[in-house]
This record gives sequence, C-alpha cells and structure tokens, in this order.
Amino acid sequence: MRLCDYEHQEIKARCEAAAAKLQKLQPALNAVVTFCDIDEQLEALKERSTDGKLYGIPIVLKDNISTKGIRTTASSRILDNYIPVYDANIVERLKKEGAIIIAKASMDELGMGGTNKNAYTGKVNNPYDRKRISGGSSGGSAVLVAAGATAVSIGTDTGDSVRKPAAYNGIIGVKPTYGRISRYGIIPYASSLDHVGYFTTNVEDACTMLEVLAGRDDRDMTSSQREVGTYLADLNSDLQGKTIGVLDNVQDAIHEERIKANVEELCEKLAARGAKIVHVQMPQELMETILPVYLTIANAEATANHSNLDGIRFGMREDGESVEEVMKHSRTKGFSAYVRKRFIIGSYSLFVENQDKLFRKAQKIRRLLVDHYRALLDECDCILASAAPTVAPLEDEAMDEALGKEYLVADNHMQLGNFSGYPSMTLPSGFVDGLPIGVNITCRPFEEQMMFNIGKAIEEETGLANHTVEVKA
Ligand code: GLN
Repeated sequence: MRLCDYEHQEIKARCEAAAAKLQKLQPALNAVVTFCDIDEQLEALKERSTDGKLYGIPIVLKDNISTKGIRTTASSRILDNYIPVYDANIVERLKKEGAIIIAKASMDELGMGGTNKNAYTGKVNNPYDRKRISGGSSGGSAVLVAAGATAVSIGTDTGDSVRKPAAYNGIIGVKPTYGRISRYGIIPYASSLDHVGYFTTNVEDACTMLEVLAGRDDRDMTSSQREVGTYLADLNSDLQGKTIGVLDNVQDAIHEERIKANVEELCEKLAARGAKIVHVQMPQELMETILPVYLTIANAEATANHSNLDGIRFGMREDGESVEEVMKHSRTKGFSAYVRKRFIIGSYSLFVENQDKLFRKAQKIRRLLVDHYRALLDECDCILASAAPTVAPLEDEAMDEALGKEYLVADNHMQLGNFSGYPSMTLPSGFVDGLPIGVNITCRPFEEQMMFNIGKAIEEETGLANHTVEVKA
C-alpha cells in the first residue's frame, strides 16, 4: 500500500518534531547516545503497509539493542565505535509495524546499575528535577517518554531496569514473561535474567506494544511458542472476582509514610471496584537474600557473556605487544571501574573452588525464592507492592550498595520478577513532594492479559494515563 503524499508529509512532520524535541531536551536530560537519521526510514516507510500498528510512530531504543548500520554502544567505551551489521529481532518487528527509530538512548554501562550514572556519556537527569537520577539501567529510554519526546520506548530489564526507572519518572514500565519477547540481537547482560521491556504512558499502548514485540523467534532458544494475545481488544478493567495480594515484606520495609499510604489508598479503591485485597508474605530471611543472590548470578553470567568484548573481534582496541596485552589494555580502558569490579566478583564465584559455595548456592536460593513466590500466586491473581521505597534519589544519595533492610527488601524486590520470569509492570500511582512514585504488579507466567486488566483498573483510579512532564530549557 502506498501512502498519499499528504499523509506522508504529516508523518514526516511528526517524526521531525519528535527528533527536534530530542535535540532540545539533550542539554537538560543527557538521555541520547546517538541521534538516528530518519529520512531513509521515512522513505522505506512508503513501501510498508499502512496497517502497521506503529505506522509512522517515532520510537527510542535503549543502546544495547542492535540496529543495523546504527552505532550501538551499550553506553560502554569498549563499544564506542561498534556498528552492528544486523537488526535485533524486535527492531525487525518494530520496522515491520512502521515505527521510526529516532534515537539510541543512554543506559548504565552494559546494563549494570540502577542509577544511569554509570553511562560512558554521563548521568541521565530526571525530568522532574535534574539534580535527581533517572534510575537505570534503562534511564535514557524512560526519561524521553516521561518528558513527552516519544509515546513509547524500549528498554531491557535484568533486575528491574525498566520497572524502577518507570517509577522514578511517573510512567508505565512493562517486563513481560521470560521468553515472551525475543532477545536476539540484544547485547546480553545475564542470560537467565534478561528480558526486553518497554515504557509507555498508558495501558492501551502497553497492550499494543506487546502485540508488536512478542512472538516466537527461532534465533532465541528461550523464545516461547505460545500464541501472542490480543491484549488491546481483550482489555477489561473489571475487578470482580480478582484477588490482589499486597506483599507486606515490601510495605513494612518502607520508611516513607506517604508511599505506604499511597498503596493503602489505592487498595481501598480497588476493593471498592470489587477486588478482594489480601495480605501476603514471603519468608523474611529469604527476602533479604534477593540482592546477594541476584548479584552473584548476574555478575557470573555477565562475566561469561562479556568475555567476547576483548578489543579483538569488535569494539575499541588498545595497542599491545601480544594478543593478551591487547585484550588486557582494551578491557582495562574499555570498561569503567564499576564494571570491572563486577567482573571480578563474577569470576570469583565461578572459580572451581567457589562454584558450590557461591554460584550454585545462589541458584538454589533462587529456586527457593521462586517456589515461595509461585505459591503466593496460587492464592491471588496478582502481587502488588510499591515499586520503590523512595522518590528518585538525588545524585549523591543514590547508593547502589547501602545495605539497610529498606534497600535489601523494598528497593530490590522487583528482582523476584527476573528470578521467576513472571510478567511484571510498574504504573505511576501518585506524587510525593511533586516527584512521581509507582506501584508494581506481578502475575502468573504468560498472564499478561490479567496484568494489563488490573493495570487498567489502577490507571482508572489514579487518573495518571498519558501524564508527562514539561522540561524547561
Ligand atoms: N540494578 C541492577 C543491576 O545493576 C539491575 C540492572 C538491570 O536490570 N539491567 O544489575
């Protein structure tokens, strides 16, 4: 089908306006690594079906998603000059549906971090208050949707990297079931935990995006054969007969009373719509293992996955007298100290003499956590908790390693969604001192429809659909 010139001009104007907005926001937010050329994509669009679900819609991708001919750095110095020769599966799908990629967004280097301070191009700023962090690791993608530059953007979520920045920026962040979206062409972090996710400002768009992105791909062996739902057509916010379990371990660990009250008030409203609200608990000692278990598994898998970033095959290369020296110099200069530290921790738990007491032990505890989590979902249709115990922290107070109970449990509980692979999403649920806060819901595997339906009811109660923030120059 060919577009008439008039329509094409309108789409072109829309994409150019979005691209111009990105340029304008860059000094304030620092969210973009690479601005993409849109003219060629607009030309190619003329040959595509106008029925595409994202026809002529500008979109932003996290910079760990391979884009043919477009620099893909994963916000790491070592990949500064890397230009992929192929598209990730999700990029093929987005293009097929008519999306126009306008930028590659900043992230914590290789996905490691929850602040987006660990990017080669520097900190990404929160659009509500630039002194605050965006959250990470998909911070660039999050702030561009929050600031209204694009309606949707893509991120990845290994340990909450879509759902946490969604909370800090007052938007929706979705991580579907493990295997629902192909990861072919995504620069990996930790393969047993990595998911593709995305940001939107309303539940309808969240439904459409999953219809576009999900589906079997033979090139990702974890990709599911299950049929993709018709999420938008089946969206139904009726809560009659649904049971929602509030995860008390999380709510009890939060210090900020207004964030606790936000969940309580929301639950009263959901109960008034017919939902049965119950309180559920995980064994507390298990909850406090989430972060160490996560870091043990994630760092070990990352160490193995990133052994190919050596300056020999691709990426930046430093000089040296021998192959070993080239690798050593390239890796020393190519990664930040923070990433190198994680590789050391990862290698340590993979040493033959440490495997049983560290890596395998972490895997066993992961299994225990998932068994308990699964049992909670036998009793209820969804588990609900505050997505984060605080608003977006100020740059200096964002400490990845502070080990209080609030941090261990309330700041890291969403990693349960990665351990289990269960579908999980964050929705905006209000404001504290003018800064956004969010609520997280998690459902049984492949019950994305249930998640969107409950999400829709939450959205109707908060009235925060399509909320974005104006960033002053
Ligand atoms: N903060 C977690 C980490 O640093 C999560 C990152 C992610 O989901 N990519 O590993």
